[in-house]
Amino acid sequence: LHSRDHQLENSIVKVGDTLIGDQQPHFIIGPCSVESYEQVYHVAEQMSERGMTLLRGGAFKPRTSPYDFQGLGLNGLQILSEVAKQFNMSVITEIMSTESIDEAYDYVDVVQIGSRNMHNFDLLRAVGKLDKPVLLKRGLSATIHEFKMAAEYILNEGNNNVILCERGIRTYETATRNTLDISAVPILKQETHLPVFADVSHSAGRKDLLIPQAKAAIAAGADGVMAEVHPNPQVALSDAKQQMDLLEFHSFMDQLDNFLHRF
Ligand code: PEP
Ligand code: MN
Repeated sequence: LHSRDHQLENSIVKVGDTLIGDQQPHFIIGPCSVESYEQVYHVAEQMSERGMTLLRGGAFKPRTSPYDFQGLGLNGLQILSEVAKQFNMSVITEIMSTESIDEAYDYVDVVQIGSRNMHNFDLLRAVGKLDKPVLLKRGLSATIHEFKMAAEYILNEGNNNVILCERGIRTYETATRNTLDISAVPILKQETHLPVFADVSHSAGRKDLLIPQAKAAIAAGADGVMAEVHPNPQVALSDAKQQMDLLEFHSFMDQLDNFLHRF
């Protein structure tokens, strides 16, 4: 179902009034974790100035250590959804388990399946039964074939609104947190009809590579880019090193706007 042989034309995923896959790049922006109403509001306000509509933020956080901040849970979802309403935006947030789908449902516009859950087939089947788009992240060490097959689990349950997201893979390289597999973008565009995003924050794990990585992804044919923005990254409860502050966010977008005009 995911393949170009099955469907020749590009799938377009509608999120609010935004059409993902419509040949122009879209941006999913927001903090790593939802920490407070004010925190999310400050980011959304700046996004709104630039006419952006896709607000991300984690309420259920898949942390390496059980002692690290695990997210605000349902309260985080309520914050996201309230802020999104204020600015007429859509909420993209991760759901980590089948049990939280019901309680999260009303607050979420796009369900994110995180890298660590790409192989969670029960969860993939469950979101495949939903009437909401799914942003599926590539597993930490998943091959492109495995990534496509994870999408297939969702499509096979009847949900056609799947967005693929390359977010960096594990390699021997230590200069970056993960290695953004740029070749995955054109391969997925060639072999599937699904929109493809690149998450430049979790791939790099550092912010000085966000602009070149985003340019590379767009030049390679990505339908959009995900990046993390926090009003005060130094005190962020997760991913403090890679989140842009609000000034950096505007400079990131200015440079990408210039880049897109040159295309
Ligand atoms: C995220 O986007 O919040 C996240 C945890 O990313 P990943 O699943 O790609 O690590
Ligand atoms: Mn993060």
